[in-house]
Amino acid sequence: ISPVHIIGGGLAGSEAAWQLARHGVPVILHEMRPLRGTDAHKTDGLAELVCSNSFRSDDATANAVGVIHAEMRLAGSLIMRAADANQVPAGGALAVDREAFSDAVTKALAAEPLITISREEITGLPPADWGRTIIATGPLTAPDLAAAISAETGEEALAFFDAIAPILHTDSIDMSTCWFQSRYDKIGPGGTGKDYINCPMDKAQYEAFIAALIAGDKTTFHEWEGTPYFDGCLPIEVMAERGPETLRHGPMKPMGLTNAHKLDEKPYAVVQLRQDNALGTLYNMVGFQTKLRYGEQTRIFRMIPGLENAEFARLGGLHRNTYLNSPLLLDATLRLKSRPDIRFAGQITGCEGYVESAAIGLLAGRFAAAEALGVKLAPPPPISAFGALLNHITGGHLVSDDEPGKRSFQPMNINFGLFPPLDPGAIEKPEGRRFRGKEKALAKKNAMARRALAACAEWLEEARPQAAE
Ligand code: FAD
Repeated sequence: ISPVHIIGGGLAGSEAAWQLARHGVPVILHEMRPLRGTDAHKTDGLAELVCSNSFRSDDATANAVGVIHAEMRLAGSLIMRAADANQVPAGGALAVDREAFSDAVTKALAAEPLITISREEITGLPPADWGRTIIATGPLTAPDLAAAISAETGEEALAFFDAIAPILHTDSIDMSTCWFQSRYDKIGPGGTGKDYINCPMDKAQYEAFIAALIAGDKTTFHEWEGTPYFDGCLPIEVMAERGPETLRHGPMKPMGLTNAHKLDEKPYAVVQLRQDNALGTLYNMVGFQTKLRYGEQTRIFRMIPGLENAEFARLGGLHRNTYLNSPLLLDATLRLKSRPDIRFAGQITGCEGYVESAAIGLLAGRFAAAEALGVKLAPPPPISAFGALLNHITGGHLVSDDEPGKRSFQPMNINFGLFPPLDPGAIEKPEGRRFRGKEKALAKKNAMARRALAACAEWLEEARPQAAE
């Protein structure tokens, strides 16, 4: 079997290499450190954690990241094995001794006879004679390779910063205050004229909100990030600072919108929420990209009428982050449509975080292994955490209906909003009394977690005969 080349020995590349070798497929893993560094990496270790040492919640019964941990363990993940072996106490979270963790991954890969580690920077797309390649060069992909990828995919399809607006769980929005309507009832392609959820504000609410945005505590850019403000995606608080009316003439303009609950009262300002995934379980806050600190975002955005009890699937941010418009460019098994010999994995595909990047590395490794072995491997079902995350990357986003050509794909952590809704009756109700709110939400998470793990186990079982494990 000819070797699969992997570019980048981070979280995704290391896991992909391990999965390939476990399936009997040789690997050449190209990592540029220590010959060339990035602005965030400090060592020459593989799978270096560049910031926090946490893999977040390890609760596989009620937390989506805990579920994906469990699925990765079921799939024989090296990243999870090394994390489990090098845990430090962190309550319900899985946190690790970062050096011991990276050391364990580096040693395991170096000891694997089917893996060759080549310390070199790859400066262009892989030549055709390399055969199968996985590019897993992460959010800080070196500039020459990034330029080569951009030349292949088109400039518009590779972003160098993310500008993320917060995303909410639809079922936490108070629809007795908000209403569905597109501005001027405009019907775009595939739309209904009722594509947005609108949250109304009166003058006093608007003024208090603007004051809170301006006073709110913000994060700063790292020195090496510069200040990447582009036209059309200024942080909401920067717009607020430009004058009290700026937002009312920008993303919060009330024109063309009528409050369905108060027909005779014109809203002074309106926050619009746009559907974020095909399932309709998530909505994003249109134009609300922000550098406010996470705690401040929750506090300030819950001042918006209708969002008092909003649950956030992800909060906003602006970071240096190299990532592809994957739903457009990649097929269902992470291959570049224009060059199917190349797969992408990790954060460059538009997932976010150590765990998610490693999980996508695991899938890319398994897909490449199946191909190299000449067997078929269907993508994991979308009800599993693997499948839900993969579906976010390769499919389940929406294209903005009123801004043609504008990307609506944003990097995302795993969360239950990415999973298909449960079938009615999937949650057992308590006998003789009503479900309380929190109890029902927990029961829903428990049922989604159980369903995911069972589906993942079944998928791995089906894949097993093809693997030479
Ligand atoms: P990486 O882990 O970055 O690995 C990519 C590898 O590719 C690197 O080793 C790099 O040296 C190598 N490489 C790049 N270009 C080339 C090339 N041309 N040739 C050869 N090798 C190359 N996530 C969290 O979960 N928690 C956090 O607290 C957190 N904080 C972060 C802070 C910062 C400043 C940044 C930038 C990211 C942070 N992330 C965090 C995100 C996290 O780093 C990524 O999700 C994760 O590391 C991505 O894994 P990856 O394998 O895709 O990329």
